[in-house]
Amino acid sequence: MSDSPLPEYVDTRKIFQQHAVITGTVALARLDRFRGLLASEAGSVRVELEFFDDESGQHIISGKLRAEVEVLCQRCLEPIGIVLHDDIKLALLKDESKSAMLNPELDPWICADTKLELASMVEEQLMLCMPIVSFHESAHCNSALGQSNSGMLVDDDNVAASENPFAVLKSLQTKDRTN
Ligand SMILES: [Zn+2]
Repeated sequence: MSDSPLPEYVDTRKIFQQHAVITGTVALARLDRFRGLLASEAGSVRVELEFFDDESGQHIISGKLRAEVEVLCQRCLEPIGIVLHDDIKLALLKDESKSAMLNPELDPWICADTKLELASMVEEQLMLCMPIVSFHESAHCNSALGQSNSGMLVDDDNVAASENPFAVLKSLQTKDRTN
C-alpha cells in the first residue's frame, strides 16, 4: 500500500464513475476520537479504498484498513502495540431513509454533500474494530502480581519473579542442566 497521505476529500460525483482506487495513510493527528483511545501518538493507519457502483447503481466503498497503534494494557497500564485490520464495505447514502433497504452485508455511510471526507469515515471503521480491552501476554506483562486485591501496583521485577512458581521451576531446571 502507498505511503502517501490519503486525500482529505473525494468528489462523490466523480469518484464512483471513475471506479477509483485510493490507497494511503491517515495521520493519527487527523483522527481525534480514535487518538483519544490510544496510549501514544506512535503508530500508523493505512487504507485502501475502492469506489464503484454496484448492479443496482448503489455507490459502494470497499476496501481494507490496517493500523498499528499503542493502547494501554489493562493489567499493568503500560503501552502495548496492537494491530487492527478490517474489511470495509460501505454503501454511500445521501440520507438515512434508504438504509433499511440496504443489502445486509453493507453498512450505510451517510454523506449529504458531494464532498466525502475520508478521515472521518476511516476513523469510524477504526473505532468499530478496536478491541474493548488489551493485555500483554502474561510473560511480557509488567505486572505479574498485577491482580493484587489491594489495587496497589507492584512493579518490582525481582519480587515478582521470586514469587512466581514457574520462575522457581525454571531456575531449578537450569541448575539441573548445568550440573
Ligand atoms: Zn501488561
